[in-house]
Amino acid sequence: MKSQIIDGKKVAEDLINRIKEGVDRRLAKGLRAPGLAMILVGDNPASKVYVRNKEKACERSGILSMMHRLPESTSEQELLALIDRLNGDAAVDGILVQIPLPQHIDAEAVLNSISPDKDADGFHPDNMGRLAIGAPRFRPCTPRGIMTLLEHTGAELAGIDAVIVGRSNIVGRPMALELIQVSATVTVCHSKTRDLPGKIAAADLVVAAVGRAEFVKGDWIKPGAIVIDVGINRNEEGKLVGDVEFGAASERASWITPVPGGVGPMTVASLLENTFDSAESRDPS
Ligand code: NDP
Repeated sequence: MKSQIIDGKKVAEDLINRIKEGVDRRLAKGLRAPGLAMILVGDNPASKVYVRNKEKACERSGILSMMHRLPESTSEQELLALIDRLNGDAAVDGILVQIPLPQHIDAEAVLNSISPDKDADGFHPDNMGRLAIGAPRFRPCTPRGIMTLLEHTGAELAGIDAVIVGRSNIVGRPMALELIQVSATVTVCHSKTRDLPGKIAAADLVVAAVGRAEFVKGDWIKPGAIVIDVGINRNEEGKLVGDVEFGAASERASWITPVPGGVGPMTVASLLENTFDSAESRDPS
């Protein structure tokens, strides 16, 4: 069996176009464009690229990006004061602080200071808690994007056996909560899990979020399973690869996401979706 590729780039583009239509509808009714405030502290090269990509996506969707580029020397108090100001700014619907932050800043304190009503990344404990009790508001972007990709396959998710590899707060844990919401039976695996190949071999859906190049072997995949590869890694030749051995896995899976061009673009599109939803909840069009 040869897999169908889940084209995350295309699904993300379509989503951004739909958001643009929504923004245009708001403007036509005399409402303001949604606003996303982004804060980048320091010169981390990867963070600069991520933020630039998010800015470009905002431009395409009509969402206003409000960039705050701060020097590495910024104190925690200064950062907290800026977030406080943005929390009270009626033109701001979403606030994103790009992580990692410099060592002298307590990232948890900073992320927790973002108003849960403007938490575009969905990392605030209030929003994670709401997802955990089945009453989501802001949903973490990567798992939300994966749910959109799964909808795109048309697969029935209720009752399927899903295995998630990874339990981070930004991917694995909220992914488990998302899948429970749609009545999948969820197993969350991590570094202490016994017999990972055996667990994956029984799964109808595998979400790999480990951060290790081609860690999930193709011959572990159950024929016909859906494979979602969250990982972004460089292999020994410097090529960008996922957490799944793509070639071998795509001989067995029914659907599979490529790396790049799978989950990555959806994370950014879901950030815009969260920001748009926030503006709509503040003043609906
Ligand atoms: P973390 O490092 O925070 O988490 C990795 C998880 O993998 C941990 O739960 C860890 O277990 C688990 N793990 C590590 N080794 C093993 C093992 N041998 N067997 C089973 N599980 C193991 O990573 P993130 O969740 O932040 O990211 C995962 C990957 O996804 C990375 O490549 C990252 O770059 C990528 N990513 C991609 C995004 C996108 O938009 N495409 C967005 C976010 C992340 P334990 O908890 O026991 O340590």
